[in-house]
This record gives sequence, structure tokens and C-alpha cells, in this order.
Amino acid sequence: MAGVTGLRCHFTTLVTSALMLTLTLCAPLCLAQEGQDPPRLASDHHKDSRIELAIQQVSADRIQQTINKLVSFNNRSTISAQDDASIKAGKGIGAAREWIKTEFERYSKDCGGCLEVKTDAFTEQPADRIPKPTEITNVYAVLRGSDPKQADRIVLVTGHYDSRNSDTFNVTDPAPGANDDGSGTAVSLECARVLSQAAAKLKFPATIIFLTVAGEEQGLNGSKHFAQMAKQQGWKIEAVLNNDIVGGNLGAGQDASLVRVFSEGLPAAASEAEIKRIRALGGESDSTSRELARYVADVGRSYDAGVKPLLIFRLDRFLRGGDHYAFNQQGFAAVRFTEFREDFNRQHQTPRTENGIEYGDLAKYVDFEYVAHVARLNAATLASLASAPAPPSNVKMLTQNLDNDTALTWEPSAGAAAYEVVWRSTNAADWEYVQPVSGGTSATLKVSKDNVIFGVRAVDAAGHRSLPDVPEPESKK
Ligand SMILES: [Zn+2]
Repeated sequence: MAGVTGLRCHFTTLVTSALMLTLTLCAPLCLAQEGQDPPRLASDHHKDSRIELAIQQVSADRIQQTINKLVSFNNRSTISAQDDASIKAGKGIGAAREWIKTEFERYSKDCGGCLEVKTDAFTEQPADRIPKPTEITNVYAVLRGSDPKQADRIVLVTGHYDSRNSDTFNVTDPAPGANDDGSGTAVSLECARVLSQAAAKLKFPATIIFLTVAGEEQGLNGSKHFAQMAKQQGWKIEAVLNNDIVGGNLGAGQDASLVRVFSEGLPAAASEAEIKRIRALGGESDSTSRELARYVADVGRSYDAGVKPLLIFRLDRFLRGGDHYAFNQQGFAAVRFTEFREDFNRQHQTPRTENGIEYGDLAKYVDFEYVAHVARLNAATLASLASAPAPPSNVKMLTQNLDNDTALTWEPSAGAAAYEVVWRSTNAADWEYVQPVSGGTSATLKVSKDNVIFGVRAVDAAGHRSLPDVPEPESKK
């Protein structure tokens, strides 16, 4: 008898386990609302063939020329020469700045004047790494959005054109900065060239800014100034893609199939009250920067850029920083792209050979094809975001009644033809399911808000998707 009971028990356990497993795997998927299309997997590919064509125009040869040119300025330290004679001689940061400006202007000429080339110049007062008052100039090009209702929406790509060698104050010995950050500067420039060419056909409704900053190595001075200006002037920057050290250094252990994408968890700009709300709702992995990183992952699945984003859920590399943080501090969504494996003999080093080891951030160690792949991923992300409608605003989760359904409402977005609710298990890294919502700005799902994290995004008639907005609980009326 003991044996039979044992068997029956075992059988019951098996059935229960199987049922539990089915429910666990299927719960978010199976319980769609009646009358709605069943949810799709959020990882489904989707692409715009015109964006795909545009990113194929990214050229590794062009990128190589750009990086070689940047290296030719010898030392691009922010405190290096920027007088007329040095600019004429093609040496120092002033010469680099003037050349970048000329490049943007050339691209603009080629697209019938579609780019506005601008500078953001200011005098930085002496600080730790700035011995005397120093003029710092950010150079950027603006591809104005084609839809007057959406042209105030901005997506931005950036890299820093300043460099350094072993001594932050050394402005005479070479500081080639081919990888750090000639590579990121080349990504901004190449995205500008390719997307300005594509703009006539693609007609991005939102604005794209191609930025190159100085002062990074002295303390993020250029990006701090730019981000503060953007905040003060009320710019609606939806996304910042910072490329810093994306040269794919040709050394042992490199994985050229991956590029790391760093994003902050708790927002640097969050107030105490916001941190409290994040803690209460389990929103530690849903900063706008994290959603942007997930968007990059989605673009990476959909387009063949030649490199896949590897999301790192951390602000930056351990104990190190970069320009995206300056934007995070002003409350903007910003992520950092960096090669899979850095070689520290090739960063911040005066070129030399010591004990048989060669040091220096030289162009010969840059994998130009890799930089081109990273530029394609950036261009596809910028084009997708600039083509998409604005993210839905004022997304609310109705919580007046305790129940197991989830009711969401939001306000309409300019350019939206439909909306999608996305969700994932609380312990999942990326969105798992998508529920299309055609017409209307509300949805009720048979999915418990206790077990998943929701987002709502806008979709245009061609299928371009906005960044998602994570709902706020609607307090009792
Ligand atoms: Zn750097």
C-alpha cells in the first residue's frame, strides 16, 4: 500500500509540477484579453528597408580616413594649442575642431544644406586638470526634423575629439587618441554623413544631432556644458548615444562580434521622492537610459549591423566614467557604447616601447571594420528613433481597485497610428511580450501588475516604434 500511495503522490506531484511549469512559462502569454490579438514575442524582428539601405552606406574606409586625420593633429589635449598659427600648421585641438567643422559643412553641402553646423564654445575656469582659463568648443551638426509638430524631439550621437597621453598636462608629445576617442568622433561624423544623405528619402520627423565634444579627459567639461545648455533651454532630448573607445582594439581577447552598451539603473538625476517611488515599485532597472539600452538591443536584433549590443546594466565600466553621465545628470536618457575588451596599454599612454611592450593609442591597433559596424548600429538606432512617433506621455496604471488585471491609460503621441503594451517578468532583462492596441489610448490586460513590468510605446503607420514609457500608478480619485 505504501508503494501505491507513494506512486499516487509522486504522480500528483508530477501533474502539479507540470501545471505549475506551464503556468509559469505561459502566464504572461496565455492570459491575453478576449477580443485582442494574442501577444507577440517582444524579440520579434522588425525593420524598415530604407533604414537598412542607409546604414549600408557606412564606410570603413571613410572611418579610417577620419581617424588618421584626427591622429595627424599630434596632440588633441583640451589644453593644447588653438591659436591661428597652430591651426594653420594642423597641430593641436584648435586644428582638430576646425577640421571637424569643415567635415560637417562638407556633408551639409552634399545634402543641399540639410545640416546646420554649430559650435558651443565657452571658457572653462582653472580646475584640477585645467591650469588656466581655457576655451572649450563642442562642434555639432543638426539635422532638423521634417514634422513641425515633432521637430523639437531630439536624438543625439556623441563622441569626444580631445585626447591625452600619459601626462594630462603634456600638450607637445603625441596623444594620438585613435581609439579614445577618435573612434567615437568618427562614429558621430559617419552617422552625420550617412543619415544626412538618407534624409531626403527617409524624412525623419524628429531632429538628429551629431555632436563631438572636447574636455572629456579634463573632467567631461564639454558634455557637461552642452547638457546643461540643453536642460536650461528646454531641449527635448529623448536619447543620447555616447561612443567612447569603439575601435575594437586588435589585441588578444577582443570579441569583434560584440559592443558593450552601458546604462544607469537608478537615475543620477532622480530626487529623493523619485528614488522612494522606484524602491516601492521595483523600478530599479527601468530608468529611461535602461529603456534606451533595450531599444538598442531591439535594433541590434532587427538590423544586420555586423556587431551585436551586449547590454551591461551599470552606469559605466567599474569606477570609470564618460560623457553620457553628464547627460544623465541633467535627466536625459543616455548610454555608452564601448568595445568588448579594452587594452590599457593603448589608452592614455604616450607612444613608446618599454621592456618590449609597445604603448600608445595608435591607429594601427584600430579595427576600422569594427568601428563601421558600431556606426551602423548607432545609425540604425538614430534613424529608428527619429522615424518613430513621440513616446506616449502620462502613462498611468489604474490602481483604484485591487484586482489581477492591469488597466493602462495614456495620452496620444504626435505621429502615432497605434500603440503597443510591452511587458516582462520582474526578473527578466528585456521585454518579453507585446500586445498591440489598435485605436484608443487605454488597454486592460489579463496580466497581473504584481508579476511583471509594463511599458507602453507608440507605433507609426510604417511600424517604427518609440521608446516605451513605464506607467506610474494612478492614485485613488
Ligand atoms: Zn574616452
